[in-house]
Amino acid sequence: MSQSSFDYDLFVIGGGSGGVRAARIAAGYGAKVAVAEDYRMGGTCVIRGCVPKKLMVYASRYRGDFEDAAGFGWTVGQSHFDWSTLIAAKNKEITRLEGIYTANLEKAGVEIHHERAVVAGPNAVHLQKSNRTMTARYILVATGGWPSAEAAFPGAEHTISSNEVFDLPRQPKRILIAGGGYIAVEFASIFAGLGTETTLIYRGDQILRGFDSEVRAHISAALQARGIRIITGETIASIEKGSDTLAVRTSGGEALEVDEVMLAIGRTPNTRGLGLESAGVALKPNGAVIVDANSQSNVPSIYAVGDVTDRVALTPVAIREGHAFADTVFGGKPAVADHTGIPTAVFTTPEIGTVGVTEDALKAIRRNYDVYRSTFRPMRNILAGRDERTLMKLLVEHPSDRVVGCHIVGPDAGEMVQLVAIAMKMGATKAQFDATMALHPSAAEELVTMRSPSEQIRH
Ligand code: FAD
Ligand code: NDP
Repeated sequence: MSQSSFDYDLFVIGGGSGGVRAARIAAGYGAKVAVAEDYRMGGTCVIRGCVPKKLMVYASRYRGDFEDAAGFGWTVGQSHFDWSTLIAAKNKEITRLEGIYTANLEKAGVEIHHERAVVAGPNAVHLQKSNRTMTARYILVATGGWPSAEAAFPGAEHTISSNEVFDLPRQPKRILIAGGGYIAVEFASIFAGLGTETTLIYRGDQILRGFDSEVRAHISAALQARGIRIITGETIASIEKGSDTLAVRTSGGEALEVDEVMLAIGRTPNTRGLGLESAGVALKPNGAVIVDANSQSNVPSIYAVGDVTDRVALTPVAIREGHAFADTVFGGKPAVADHTGIPTAVFTTPEIGTVGVTEDALKAIRRNYDVYRSTFRPMRNILAGRDERTLMKLLVEHPSDRVVGCHIVGPDAGEMVQLVAIAMKMGATKAQFDATMALHPSAAEELVTMRSPSEQIRH
């Protein structure tokens, strides 16, 4: 691509999931590309999101595995968990991944600026530390999100967020986690598994708003059975710092003493002080960049992808959006990221995997549908003496017979749902699920052996 009068064809602000993918693909098409990253290459997912979180999920699951082993004849010696060993191993792994991200960008010929960049005009970016202004034909804003801290109450300054939780100097003996979304429930599950006395406080009446109601009820009961205390309908009213503990008062008047309070009350698009308004870029009230299906803002040379656009805040979505942007603008291959049928998992123990519509959504639009539901104790739990049950639910549109929702709570739910998502993307019908041979013995075989509907909803 011709450089004409600009320093770069593309300047990407933010070296996270979306920005790195866009930079590499654009450079592969011959564009002259720069990326500015003011923290660590790889972004939230690699440094303080999906990856370290999943490593901690694995760590937290050994507790249950050790408990279950006895039923299979194993005597496991006394087990002990050491927080600093896990954190050191996690740090080593994310440093390795950070190196791979950097190397891949360099291999693709992308210039990296390790400093904060702000938009200085429709075709200009200012690098703050080195006090340089560069020009670019296109600017891609891929600055991600930041933990929201809007819950103002006395003592809020004593809380931590997901930014700090990965590097606490020691494991809290007792933790209170505020919020009922992905991060709150995942960390409640992690800490409980690691042996921390865990309480979750959520302002609504049931955790995980937006998920299928049955899934919400099932996971809430399962988490409580695994020792997590869930307080609903309340918020934190105040926190007072003692010599080495925190005294929390809830809106219901209860007093709790804990070692850490973690707020997981959503994430806000990272645009504060980014210069977008002065360049004329339209933002939503929460600061998200308003973009069209091509990720283009109202200023034609400025695009935005990933969490900063507040569409679907998931890594694979940011990557797809970044890739589609580069294909369209630099590859001459118009592409849009498809935001339908996105599978997602909540990495609690047990895990949630879900794709497609919820039953609540079908009810709301008065659609006719059948529910196929199976709840069972996974084979392993029987000898283990564990009562935890798996929930599987397929929603089938009537009369088209298309499978429009799949919701699973149980071991490997995320892995199963990733594959069901392919079938659903292809428009698979329940008859085609049924025609698929079961794989035995597995939990996933339930998905192709649920013969009769549990309910048939007709309006
Ligand atoms: P980010 O990855 O956040 O990258 C933005 C980058 O921009 C950051 O590195 C930041 O330092 C940099 N930056 C910001 N402003 C500037 C500036 N002015 N100049 C230079 N650099 C700047 N998603 C999943 O799909 N699965 C999961 O299991 C999952 N788990 C998560 C767990 C946690 C605790 C969190 C917080 C998130 C999780 N997510 C998960 C969400 C996922 O991390 C995000 O959707 C994804 O990282 C978004 O990518 P992005 O490129 O938009 O932004
Ligand atoms: P979520 O949007 O998932 O959840 C935010 C939670 O905080 C909700 O329960 C919300 O309640 C509550 N809340 C919001 N404001 C307040 C307030 N002022 N006081 C008290 N509670 C409040 O955000 P997360 O921070 O958990 O995660 C951000 C995003 O990151 C997720 O939505 C997801 O897209 C992504 N992510 C994905 C993961 C995965 O794929 N496994 C894991 C972690 C994050 P209410 O429901 O009442 O609004």
